[in-house]
Amino acid sequence: MKFVIAIDGTASSGKSTTARLLAKKLGFVHLDTGAMYRAVTYLLLTKKAQESDDERIANVLLKSSLTFKIQRGSLHVYLGDKELKDELRTPEVDNWVSPVSERSIVRAYLVAKQREIGRNRKIVCEGRDIGSVVFPDAGLKVFMTCDMAERAMRRQKELREKGIDQSGEDVEASLARRDEIDSNRKISPLKCTSDAFRIDTTDLTIEEQVAIIEEEVQKRMGEKS
Ligand code: C5P
Repeated sequence: MKFVIAIDGTASSGKSTTARLLAKKLGFVHLDTGAMYRAVTYLLLTKKAQESDDERIANVLLKSSLTFKIQRGSLHVYLGDKELKDELRTPEVDNWVSPVSERSIVRAYLVAKQREIGRNRKIVCEGRDIGSVVFPDAGLKVFMTCDMAERAMRRQKELREKGIDQSGEDVEASLARRDEIDSNRKISPLKCTSDAFRIDTTDLTIEEQVAIIEEEVQKRMGEKS
């Protein structure tokens, strides 16, 4: 039985960790669509094409050897034979990913791939437009929010673990800028749909977040069967 859990929310609201653990617990595939937008951004940066016109961007995408594979239950991104991991999480990619993700050509390219991956699967898919655009018929839609100070702390910790030192102020400014672009862009802006289950994660542990969503999934799956 196909079942999509769509998780949307602001940057560093806890989506990825929650989606990963939830997928593992339920035996679903985990699809982090942010990693796909980051991969395209990384690719365009390597070609200095991050601000190019649609034709050049289409050309770079078509000629690239960027591939998205589901392996061991989650998304793995490759450029040729090389798996992209830490390259996707640098401050430079953070800086460019929202402007790149505003481009209709980039969204059309990735949404098609996301739907293809989600076809006939049980999947936890996270991003910004999953419940509103990619999988509007998802079995459960979750919208995650969190206070800025807490989000900045989480992101700074994540960067530190990768050996990148950024001041709290810079991290906060980068998150706020991304939220602003993601929420106000013309195509597929980040928004909470009226049928989404809303969770504020500021005072919740990851385990609590997973348990709350899992309970909701069990209810909806019960209704479906
Ligand atoms: O989820 P993450 O913070 O890694 O996403 C990075 C960026 O990718 C977001 O700030 C947003 O600009 C873009 N994105 C998007 N649509 C999605 C997922 C991510 O526009 N479904």
